Amino acid sequence: MRLYRDADHHIPALAAPPVLVAGHPSAPVTLTASNVPLRVVLLGTGDPLNHERAQASLAVQCLEGAEGAERETILIDTSRGTILLGQLHAAGIALARIRHVFISHRHFDHAGGLAPLLVALSALPAATVTVYAPPITMTALHDLLAMSIPGVEEWLGPRLCWRTLVPGQAVAAGRAIVTSFAVAHGMEYVGFRVDTGGVTLTVSADTRPCPALVKYAEGADLLIHEAYGLDTVVAEAHRFGHATAADAGRAACAAGVRRLVLTHVCSSLHANPTALVDEAKSVFAGPVTLARDLDVVDVRTALNARGR
Ligand SMILES: [Zn+2]
Ligand SMILES: [Zn+2]
Repeated sequence: MRLYRDADHHIPALAAPPVLVAGHPSAPVTLTASNVPLRVVLLGTGDPLNHERAQASLAVQCLEGAEGAERETILIDTSRGTILLGQLHAAGIALARIRHVFISHRHFDHAGGLAPLLVALSALPAATVTVYAPPITMTALHDLLAMSIPGVEEWLGPRLCWRTLVPGQAVAAGRAIVTSFAVAHGMEYVGFRVDTGGVTLTVSADTRPCPALVKYAEGADLLIHEAYGLDTVVAEAHRFGHATAADAGRAACAAGVRRLVLTHVCSSLHANPTALVDEAKSVFAGPVTLARDLDVVDVRTALNARGR
């Protein structure tokens, strides 16, 4: 496990991100978020067939105060099968702390861990969770549960809530505000912008380059972006709805983010980690890291990181 802190890099402060306002036409609501740092735990960083890494999932925690006592956890994607449960255990994240689960799309490497997670939560009386997904994905998730573990929704009863996402609209998830946005993966698919008022994280999940990603990553403190491979396979990557390391670097540059982390990578049989980072760095001047399973990234504003 590696721990990165902004203070290590002396990154210049950017302007505060825009205030996000929920856009529901019938009930406009201004969402306010706490200006607190975020901790990101990269639970799974491999592509669907990567046997060396867990599949896509990350945990986001709002840290309250200097000791980071607040540990209510947001999950973005659920890896596959019971791998998620193992990664949560390895990261020291208690299941009962998971209150919000966002699903980007239906592919098994992102949604396949939901059923085991809900079964595990059903055995914990204190557990309450809300699952968020765009509409077609939401229907597919209900079908997945009906096929693989019928009855689990009743086991959780009112402790399980569902909320359909509308791309571009913000939702409050504990102390954070999460805005989903449509990206380009060949099916219904959303990325996520997580904001605490002063700290911003953007997650591309799976996508070929698209303007929406740059828009919702604008000024972010951290961009977590997939990297299918190098630009030598750019045509293949785009055909399958993915991006290269250079694409990730170009998006980071265009959006003016402070830091880029590459994830969703092929096994070492097919991808050279150093080459992926070098390619992204060739087009983005900020810090670039290739994620590893269970890496922890503390995301703070430059102001907070310097303790002012
Ligand atoms: Zn996918
Ligand atoms: Zn994927």
